[in-house]
Amino acid sequence: MRNDWLIHIQRLTLALFFCYLFGLLIGYPAWLMVIALGAYLAWTLFQAIRLHRWLFSPERPAQPPSSQGLWGDLFDGLYKYQTEHQQTQQRLQNLISRVQDSVNALRDVVVMTDSQGNMEWWNQTAENLLGLRKPTDRGQPIQNLVRTPRFKRYFMSKNYDDPLQIRSPHKPDVILSIHITLFGEDDRLIVGQDISRLHHLESVRQDFISNVSHELRTPLTVLSGYLETILDHQEDIPPRWKRALHQMQQQSLRMQALVADLLLLSRLEDHDHIPPQRPLNLELLLDSIKQDAEALSGGQHQITLHKRTHCRFIGDEAQLRSAFSNLVFNAVKYTPAGGSIDIEWWEDEQGVHFGVTDTGMGFDPIHIPRLTERFYRVDPSRNTQTGGTGLGLAIVKHVLINHEGRLEIQSKLGQGSRFVCHFPLSRHQLPELPQTQP
Ligand code: ADP
Repeated sequence: MRNDWLIHIQRLTLALFFCYLFGLLIGYPAWLMVIALGAYLAWTLFQAIRLHRWLFSPERPAQPPSSQGLWGDLFDGLYKYQTEHQQTQQRLQNLISRVQDSVNALRDVVVMTDSQGNMEWWNQTAENLLGLRKPTDRGQPIQNLVRTPRFKRYFMSKNYDDPLQIRSPHKPDVILSIHITLFGEDDRLIVGQDISRLHHLESVRQDFISNVSHELRTPLTVLSGYLETILDHQEDIPPRWKRALHQMQQQSLRMQALVADLLLLSRLEDHDHIPPQRPLNLELLLDSIKQDAEALSGGQHQITLHKRTHCRFIGDEAQLRSAFSNLVFNAVKYTPAGGSIDIEWWEDEQGVHFGVTDTGMGFDPIHIPRLTERFYRVDPSRNTQTGGTGLGLAIVKHVLINHEGRLEIQSKLGQGSRFVCHFPLSRHQLPELPQTQP
């Protein structure tokens, strides 16, 4: 097959040669050569027209035109490639259909979009739970159909390390956990899992903790109230009861702090009731946290506050106070006397940041991934000395989630720690506002 064109040329040359000989015999060699070449050109043109017709005519027959020699091989070769191409196309089509069928059968929401969120494809569950409609919604931005602002922010953030929980816009009793994966040229694959059952169990757990904490609050207040009254009259207390009563008061105060933290944590976790976030001026709040830290330290540490940018911020003041003071008080608690603590508030192109750096006891960085879990302690024995509830950093984490922030922790055993809250710039740039009261 590879040398067919050689045979063809040989045959053509031979035919021309015979024509030439015959031309010599009859006395017109040149004319005969011209006639022979003209005939060859006409035949070639005829074959080319047949090929063109087969390739481009609207009612193209399945089979190619039949021919001899080089043209016959060309027709057969093209037909072979065409058949193979059609088979490959069919195989790919079948594969795509199978993948689409299996993704369609998934119980999870699957939506493919481009970088702007314009929807290209989605499965049946996405129609049921997000209310998408084929073909009217094709090419529409998903943010127009899933209108939750949190979803919009999550989609635009490009930080998809943690999933996002939202209510189904079509079936409000369904809770979806949304994961986004980047693929291709900045395209997005959005997968939503129905976690309603898990969410329900989690709510039951939260309600239980919140109710128990609530119920414990009153008896604890009564207990510590009586203890305080008794201890106010030291002279009437028999000496052997004194130590026990002091310890009882200490422990009841600890339990009160624990109950308060548990209640705060369950309020923070309740994503359905995030308090309205207002423009604030954190200037006085930072000053008062520093003063409280100095009171807690009792003059044993050198505490400095650096406000490197203006303190206007959008958020919930009570939550921010709780998060920032937890970090600063931890620095005081875990830094031996004589150490220093730096509180910083600054802005850069990444966002606005609140940092607390201490020269305290620090801890091994292997603890960092688990540090914001409830009741996780680097060294359980430290807690009894410091009187912490073990919930401080869990509270910080939830406050930051409610403010689109993230906590960065660095520490070196024996050298100190640094805790930084990073917030997006969108929470910072605001016009001048009156200062909030501490
Ligand atoms: P706690 O009430 O025990 O302080 P937190 O959640 O605030 O609970 O902190 C969790 C643990 O992290 C603490 O028990 C302590 O071991 C460690 N920790 C937190 N802040 C510091 C710090 N500034 N220096 C050293 N260890 C810290």
